Amino acid sequence: MNTWSNIKKAVQISNSFWQVTQNSGLSNLAITNLGNGHHQQVNSDHRFVNMSSYSYLGLDSHPEILRQAIAALQSNGSLNTSTSRIRIQFELLGQAEQALADLIGADVITVASCAAAAQGILPLVASGALTENQPPVLVFDKNAHFCLNIMKPVCADETEVITIAHNDLEQLEAICKKYPRVAYVADGVYSTGGKAPVKELLQLQEKYGLFLLFDEAHGLSTVGKLGRGLVLDTLGEINDRTVIITSLNKGFGASGGAVFIGRRPYNEQRTLISRFAGPFLWSQRINTAGLGGILASVALHHTQELTQLQNQLQQNIEYFDSLIANDNHNDGLPIRFIQIGSEEATISIAKTLFERGFYTSPIFFPVIARGKAGLRIMLRSNISRSEIVEFAGHVNQLRANYE
Ligand SMILES: *Cc1c(COP(=O)(O)O)cnc(C)c1O
Repeated sequence: MNTWSNIKKAVQISNSFWQVTQNSGLSNLAITNLGNGHHQQVNSDHRFVNMSSYSYLGLDSHPEILRQAIAALQSNGSLNTSTSRIRIQFELLGQAEQALADLIGADVITVASCAAAAQGILPLVASGALTENQPPVLVFDKNAHFCLNIMKPVCADETEVITIAHNDLEQLEAICKKYPRVAYVADGVYSTGGKAPVKELLQLQEKYGLFLLFDEAHGLSTVGKLGRGLVLDTLGEINDRTVIITSLNKGFGASGGAVFIGRRPYNEQRTLISRFAGPFLWSQRINTAGLGGILASVALHHTQELTQLQNQLQQNIEYFDSLIANDNHNDGLPIRFIQIGSEEATISIAKTLFERGFYTSPIFFPVIARGKAGLRIMLRSNISRSEIVEFAGHVNQLRANYE
């Protein structure tokens, strides 16, 4: 038992941290949306800036995305299709996937969420269906996102599963030397900060035929030409040994999740995914409003506006780094983890920040190790300089009190 995960232990350890978070008024916050990452608490006049939003480009409330979401609903006359997509689908689903495919330069299949994509794709990779029916040894980066990690027991039923230290290329290469077929599972951009060594991983792919599965939930839209993300920006054209899953509700500003695979002649992968990748087949599709939102967001990604928003985000990241010392300095990514250490101290700092008008997410076990808690800050293009200055002042002052 508990070879791959230990939920009992997670509950025992972190339930009390969640309770402190709740008692500090920092979870289950009901809000009204004031736009630009500003919120007001319901039944209160407390207004605050969300410093832990993954809407990195502010697209979550972009008027054109909202407009097309509504238009799609009106023209299709139904929020869902009420039959599995493999049997019957609205024309709109194919249109949204084609638009995404043209933007990304890959074949694209959508699904209700990135978590559902992971649930569907990982067992299929483990089975060998995407590697000439030879199951690869499946290697997970220790810090890979929960939605990937939680699939280890299912994958281990199909093939050998190994977990290695974070970004440990040496260990990965040793495994590549030992086994004929290896697949590596990683985040492109990690949700607690940092990124995968994509260039080096592609070298291992070249050398050993390493199969790569990346989760680009944070990379899509946020970075790269046309917002194609960190991995594709390095890789250029996707190949038949690389699969990318992503969320369409973070930087992208719409809804749902997707998988990017190579285009024809690798098209067989598409057929296999649509028939055998779990939720792609037997769970709901992205709803009609979400599909309309995807069409609008894709159109926006083709315009100058995207580049401007990306540049604005980069300026905000640089400005933030110039004011607050952090380990992720200069990586050009919007996620900043400010380690405090004690879980209680972290939550207490977050509480004071909230009282001063800034929401931040306290992050603790099992997301990161015990005693290494901290605040996850996520920068956006639509944060003002004065907000960053004020926030930095508070963080630096509060952090100094605990050192
Ligand atoms: C948020 C997140 C997900 C989940 O995305 P959904 O589309 O909401 O399921 C998956 N992977 C990573 C790395 C994330 O940060």
